[in-house]
Amino acid sequence: MPSMNEIKKLYLSDKTPLSDFLFIADKTRKRFKKNDIELCSIVNAKSGNCSEDCRFCAQSARYRAKIDRYPLLPAKDIVKAAKSAAANKATCFGIVTSGRSINSPEEVRNIAAAVQKIKKEIPLLKCSASLGSIPRIFMRELKQAGLDRFHHNPETSENFFRRMCTTHPYKERIKTIADAKKEGLGICAGGIFGLGEKRKDRLALAIALRDLGVESVPLNFLHPIQGTPLEDAKPLPPQEILRTIAMFRLVLPKADIKVCAGRIVNLRDLQSMIFFAGASGMMIGNYLTQQGRSPALDLQMIKDLGLNIK
Ligand code: SF4
Repeated sequence: MPSMNEIKKLYLSDKTPLSDFLFIADKTRKRFKKNDIELCSIVNAKSGNCSEDCRFCAQSARYRAKIDRYPLLPAKDIVKAAKSAAANKATCFGIVTSGRSINSPEEVRNIAAAVQKIKKEIPLLKCSASLGSIPRIFMRELKQAGLDRFHHNPETSENFFRRMCTTHPYKERIKTIADAKKEGLGICAGGIFGLGEKRKDRLALAIALRDLGVESVPLNFLHPIQGTPLEDAKPLPPQEILRTIAMFRLVLPKADIKVCAGRIVNLRDLQSMIFFAGASGMMIGNYLTQQGRSPALDLQMIKDLGLNIK
């Protein structure tokens, strides 16, 4: 394993051959994760109408992105989505809601009822919730219902975050993660790339997540959506994406590194290389506001690579 200083040098330098960097990351993945792959799937349980102004997000009410907008789904629909995720071999199911935070006790009760039913009917499926910066009392209620993980992304470095969002501070996101940890929940937290940030911002995010003791790290790559301020953003080249995945594996060697939104559109034919860049998981099925590809194609890809679904 290279030291932190070596990882920084290797990642930040354009002179590092990609194949060398991926080789080290792949060795590290095998050492800590063997050939086991974790598959995640999510349900967009409450969509759009968000008060916040995150420039990459189609769910902000301030932008004109063409997306479905709806209030919180009933518990039975969330449970149905979990069953479909499990049938597609997902090992972790995420309940995701738009907005800075879920703040009504009724909504939390509805989500807790869904979690309880999912854990009763599909006990092996890990259950995660991404509900914004909710208070600790709500986290406790969800943990008691059986929630395994809380998901909340810092998204990028503290410095760059100010350019992406002006309606809430970075510190609020970090505090939410720390609160969930104090409540005994596993933490899933990562970011989105291709916003115009530099490599040093991605590295700063990886170090922040390491310091927070995050166990699962979703990596998203911007799929520019018409109507958002980043609709014309230049996509990251596939090789830069692979280099970034490798850096996350090396900074967080024991974490689950998962490639989520933007995989198909940004990596195209190189998407199977995510595992040789150090990823140990990926999202299958649909994304929050965009369609994914058929889970059958992803399952076949994993089988063809000789990897095992955890
Ligand atoms: S990322 Fe979350 S907080 Fe930001 S606009 Fe989208 S839904 Fe709202």
